[in-house]
Parts: sequence; structure tokens; C-alpha cells
Amino acid sequence: MAETADLIVVGGGIIGCAAVQHLAQLLPRSTRMVLCDRGAIAGATSGSCMGHLMVTPDDAQEYAFTARSVQLWRELNERHGGFDYNPTGALYLADDAADIELFAVLRQQFIDCGDRADILDAKQLRELEPGLAFDLPGALFYPGDGVVLPMLACRAMLQEARLHNPNVSVRPNCAIFGVRRAHGRVLGVDTAMGPIDAPIVVNATGVWAPDLAEMAGQPRLPIYPRAGNLAITGHHVTPIKTQLLEVSYIRFAHGTAKVDPTRTDDLGGHAVNMQPQTNGGCLIGSTRQFRGMDRTLNRELLHRSLLRAQRYAPGLAAAPIVRTWVGLRPFSIDKHPLIGPWPGLEGMWIAAGHEGLGISLAPITGLLLAQQIAGVKTAIDHRPYLPARFAP
Ligand SMILES: Cc1cc2nc3c(=O)[nH]c(=O)nc-3n(C[C@H](O)[C@H](O)[C@H](O)COP(=O)(O)OP(=O)(O)OC[C@H]3O[C@@H](n4cnc5c(N)ncnc54)[C@H](O)[C@@H]3O)c2cc1C
Repeated sequence: MAETADLIVVGGGIIGCAAVQHLAQLLPRSTRMVLCDRGAIAGATSGSCMGHLMVTPDDAQEYAFTARSVQLWRELNERHGGFDYNPTGALYLADDAADIELFAVLRQQFIDCGDRADILDAKQLRELEPGLAFDLPGALFYPGDGVVLPMLACRAMLQEARLHNPNVSVRPNCAIFGVRRAHGRVLGVDTAMGPIDAPIVVNATGVWAPDLAEMAGQPRLPIYPRAGNLAITGHHVTPIKTQLLEVSYIRFAHGTAKVDPTRTDDLGGHAVNMQPQTNGGCLIGSTRQFRGMDRTLNRELLHRSLLRAQRYAPGLAAAPIVRTWVGLRPFSIDKHPLIGPWPGLEGMWIAAGHEGLGISLAPITGLLLAQQIAGVKTAIDHRPYLPARFAP
């Protein structure tokens, strides 16, 4: 006989963990919930990334989405803690005139959203970050951003879920290889450990979300892997205290530039992003390149990134790099995640496609998904993220 549950979340990355946390908070305590991952919890992208909690003020909707999520991170830290939350704020850096002009634009965007950001001159920047190059012309400081260690955050979210619902079962090393269905609705999943019957299945499998959709007899979702190379220094050697990024990062990572995720000749690009770690190390990224599921290091791109990092923080030149690796961002074709029901199959839900903002957006994603499943009013307008926009 198949095991039965009320709800199955597939994927134990930050998005699956946030979904379980918020579902446990919103649904009745008796709800039987199973989280399956074919590997370790936080063993894929969420364990191969940076942990910048980033508020993006592109427009009112985007601001509400990111700022509310970062607020939920603060609240989780106050209630629970244990995931190296560090409210460093973010310093946007520039080293040429064109990029300096972006400070005023970005500052105005924060102001238009009812928030604030401060333009610092060279002296103020040096007071805040004495380890930076002396010739930097200034920076934009946004106080609302922070940093977390995503692997520990996954654990905190699951611990929080169990406080609300003792029936949450977390199963690492439990691959899903089939979605059971009949008459247009989900019946459960086939796992390496046997079938589980459930009326609701959440696809939170990141870059593998198109595969799980296919397993459920649905069209592939338009989510593509976008590789990023990272390096980390040894402990206690970082010359920085704040989350730092080149202001051009905004254009590069979140801008409106057209990209084609299916091309195989993408040379990639980079805008530097440096993150102080609680152990005193410095995490350095971050490149972007479409090249399928390939996770070999692109030494050339990473080298360019490290040179940029040294240009801003010269002390990094002497810091030992102790590890380098590649993570795959789940890039959605319209640059917005998919959060909500899939119209082609009743009971099938999706929470995937967060590209380079999945850590920032995990709490609001979990909340919006749980609120829709519970049938209550959502915290912010959830319609821009409905997967139905990709339904045939
Ligand atoms: C280099 C880099 C830097 C980044 N920096 C930041 C940052 O500073 N701030 C930020 O907000 N975001 C950042 N991101 C983005 C963020 O890491 C991702 O958006 C986020 O981790 C995606 O989480 P996820 O849960 O969707 O995917 P994943 O963490 O990949 O989780 C999906 C899980 O599904 C499981 N799975 C897949 N198929 C199956 C199956 N058939 N059965 C069972 N389990 C399955 C996988 O094993 C995996 O564990 C960065 C990403 C990269 C690569």
C-alpha cells in the first residue's frame, strides 16, 4: 500500500524549505507534509551560492516583493536565528563616470519606493570601509540589505516548520522519478523509497523544474541554468565589513538587457559582488553564463572577477583563496519566478525560477505559495508570478 500524505514538496533547496516553513505555519497542525530531495537538503544551488539579501527598487511591485521578503528574513532571525544573519547594508561601488551617474538613479528609485539610500563621498566611504582602494570616488549605501548563510537558513526554516507542525517529514536522498496522476489531477509521486499518495505536489526543484514538469506530463517550463563562478578566501582575512557590489551589477544581473538562455556560445560576463562572512572570510562572485548544466569552473571568467574584486579591495590580493566552485541559477525566461498553481494539472504547484535572487526571495515565495494553497489573501500582489503565464 502506498504511503499517504496531504502535501508533498519536491526539492529541499531554499525555496522548498521556505515553502514548508510557511505551509506549516498556515495550514492546520494535523497536515501531513513530506519534503523530498534526491540529495542533501541545500545540496544544489542553495548550497553553491552567495547569501546577499537584496532589496531591488526597479518598480513598486519589485520593491514590495524584495523588501517584504528581506523583512521576513529579519523576523525569522529574531524568532529563530542560527543562520549567520548579518544586516550589513549594501555598498554600491563605481570606478568610472558612467557608473557614478547610476548612484543618483538608484537612490531616486529607493526614494520613489518610500525608502532611502545615501550617496557617500570618498571620505565617507573610507570611514565606512577603510579596506577599500583610496582612489574610489564614492558609493551608494543602502542600509536595508543583509547577508545570510543559506545552508544554515534552510535548516532554520525546517526547524521552524516542525515547531508549528510535528507532521513535517523531511527526506533527503529521496528522488522523485514520477508524478502520479489521473483525470487531470495529481495523485502523488513515485519515489526511490516507494510511492506516496497526495492531492498536492509542489515543484520546488530549481533548475530541474522543467524535468519535474515533464515527469508530470506537462510541457517543459521555461527555466534555464545560468552558471556562476565563486571563490572564497580563508577565515579572518577579509578587508571588508559590508556587502559590496559594483553598481553596474544592477544593469548586468537585473536589467532589461535581452539574453538568450538557449545559446551555446555565450561567453558570459561578470560584475563583482563581495560578501563578508561571519568567520571573517570573503565570498567573491559573481559571473553569469548560459552553458547548460555544465558545472566546470570557467577560470578565465573567475579570474576577471577576482581582478575586479582586487581593484576595489586591494587587500584581497594577499588573501588565500581556499575554494572555488560553480552554482546554477534557475533563470526564468521573463526574469520573474513562477509561484502558484499550474493550470494544466490540478494539484500541481510551482515555486521555481528565481535566478540570482532566490535566497532574498525565499521567504516571500514560501508565504505567497502557502497563502494561495490555504486560500487566504496574499501579502502582496501575487499575480505577476503566476505560472499560468506560461501555460499553452
Ligand atoms: C553563483 C551564485 C550566486 C548567487 N547569489 C545569490 C545571492 O547573493 N542572493 C540571492 O538571493 N540569491 C543568490 N543566488 C540565487 C540562489 O542561489 C537561487 O535562486 C536559489 O538557491 C534557488 O533555490 P531553489 O530551492 O529553487 O533551487 P535548489 O537549491 O537547486 O533546490 C532544488 C532542489 O531540488 C532537488 N531536486 C531536483 N530534482 C529532483 C527530483 N527529481 N527529486 C527530488 N529532488 C529533486 C535538487 O536536488 C535540489 O536540492 C545565487 C546563485 C548562484 C549560482
